[in-house]
Amino acid sequence: MATVIGFLGLGHMGGPMAANLVRAGYEVVAFDPAPAARDQARADGATVADTAAAAVAQAEVVLTMLPNGRVVLDVYRDVLAAAAPGTLFVDCSTIDVADARQAAELAVAAGHRALDAPVSGGVSGAAAGTLTFMVGGAADDFAAALPLLEVLGGKVVHCGGAGVGQAAKICNNLMLGISMIGLSEALVLGEKLGLRHDEFFDVVSTASGQCWALTSYCPVPGPVPTSPANHDYRPGFATVLMTKDLGLAANALRDNGVDGRLGLLAAELYDRFNRTAADKDFSAIVTDIRTRSGEEQE
Ligand code: NAD
Repeated sequence: MATVIGFLGLGHMGGPMAANLVRAGYEVVAFDPAPAARDQARADGATVADTAAAAVAQAEVVLTMLPNGRVVLDVYRDVLAAAAPGTLFVDCSTIDVADARQAAELAVAAGHRALDAPVSGGVSGAAAGTLTFMVGGAADDFAAALPLLEVLGGKVVHCGGAGVGQAAKICNNLMLGISMIGLSEALVLGEKLGLRHDEFFDVVSTASGQCWALTSYCPVPGPVPTSPANHDYRPGFATVLMTKDLGLAANALRDNGVDGRLGLLAAELYDRFNRTAADKDFSAIVTDIRTRSGEEQE
């Protein structure tokens, strides 16, 4: 008999993930308060439950893909008592490390097992089943979840105990936010000094300033034809999501007494940019730096 998966949160990410599980032969019982998300899940072959609690009642594994930590904790409090003892809860949302640890504690206290398993790879990775999973929790629970996560992801890494999957996610995005700003400042400085983008790319892509933000995701049009800069900064990875992740990273820096000045500043700069450009790709921060530098690009 097929493993029954409870799936809560069928948005941009969760919807295609649930569909991939159905395609792989799992029986998916899903819930989302949004009617359109429920209709899509039904069309994709999932069974749609009337409530979140009903969706988890028959499940061996429950996946959650929810907007933030508050919703994850609310949903856990709502459904834990309805699940069969020993159900494996796998939260794939991006949330605070502290919230992830609290969610795991709630699940364990209710007689269940829990993993945090945030992802990178975005909506296209969710649809293609090529997400990267960063997993926190016990080794045997990781082993139990692995076959299922491998349906959804191209790479699945056990990072450590509860919350450490979220730690990996925010550490990566902290570095990405800082490096995108650093690269963008250098590009704008280069513009002012007469250094053209193609030559900047030619030199830096093989010099010590080389980074993913430049060689895979160049924030100005031209050098990397697939980057969002070539398509009016359509995401990609939207500024609103980078701002959220840097907010989580800033919380973690403060909570853990890390003197992360660049991280806090990156969070502040994205928070400000997000007020006018939430739906633009996060690499559009280069346009903000250019504007704040008092000059439009020629
Ligand atoms: P989304 O807003 O599209 O989806 C969230 C879904 O959760 C919505 O459909 C909403 O109706 C549902 N929901 C809200 N309350 C619920 C409840 N009580 N029970 C069940 N469902 C509920 O967001 P998304 O883009 O799918 O992102 C989901 C998570 O994945 C977020 O934590 C986000 O940070 C993370 N993430 C997103 C991306 C991306 O590119 N979109 C990439 C990596 C990680």
